[in-house]
Amino acid sequence: MAHGPMPNSPTEIARVAQTARGFLVDWDGCCAIDNQLTPWAAAFLRTHQARTAIVSNNSSNTIDDFLVVLRKSGVQMYRNQIVLAGVEAIDRASLAGQVEVMVLGDPRMRAVARNLGIRLNRDEADIVVLLRDTRFSYSRLERAANALRKGARLILSNPDLTHPGSEGWIKPETGALLAALGSCVDLDKVDVDVVGKPSPALYLKACDALELGPEDVIMLGDNPATDLAGAQALGIRSLLTRADAPEVFETLRQVVGG
Ligand SMILES: [Mg+2]
Repeated sequence: MAHGPMPNSPTEIARVAQTARGFLVDWDGCCAIDNQLTPWAAAFLRTHQARTAIVSNNSSNTIDDFLVVLRKSGVQMYRNQIVLAGVEAIDRASLAGQVEVMVLGDPRMRAVARNLGIRLNRDEADIVVLLRDTRFSYSRLERAANALRKGARLILSNPDLTHPGSEGWIKPETGALLAALGSCVDLDKVDVDVVGKPSPALYLKACDALELGPEDVIMLGDNPATDLAGAQALGIRSLLTRADAPEVFETLRQVVGG
């Protein structure tokens, strides 16, 4: 596996992609920057939309948000082809039944939770769902830390520390907020459920959506520690990509079209 952001050689891309029946693609830093699709990713997705699923650790957007961005570039996908760590984390909390849930996340994500019938509680919680909360504050940190100290379970959308933004900026990610919580409470004593990559759930859900097995698909992503490591653990072949470098998508186009 690559140790840094070194793209695969054209020969390697051709070897890996030739037999692929489907594609799992990461979003931030792979297909998009700040939720803007790159032209080369858009061209690829338009051609392969029927056999591609998005597998993203994004936890601040809904599936509808993604459908809007994709449609703007002429990409038509079904809802189940968009597999997002934030939405899945909320789904997982909904499986716990009638319990009190504290969701640290954007208001639109709390609305997703409410629509699933989840009982949201700012103070007392059996479950804390930690998403990329762009309104994270001292008070939210205090309430979540105390809920965990009192035995609440933690559902973490994703462990990423940052993702690439536009113009060379980094965007702090959910893992950075987890680090703040971890400085207040001993996370070794907390039941932590990690939903996003590199955990297997999102990849398997995406494979199901495409009706393909892990051996039939390849994963494209920009993060060796999450995208590629998680794929490798499931026997999914993978290629390292970068949103600001068209090479991988252009080479893929020569091999599989698009
Ligand atoms: Mg990425």
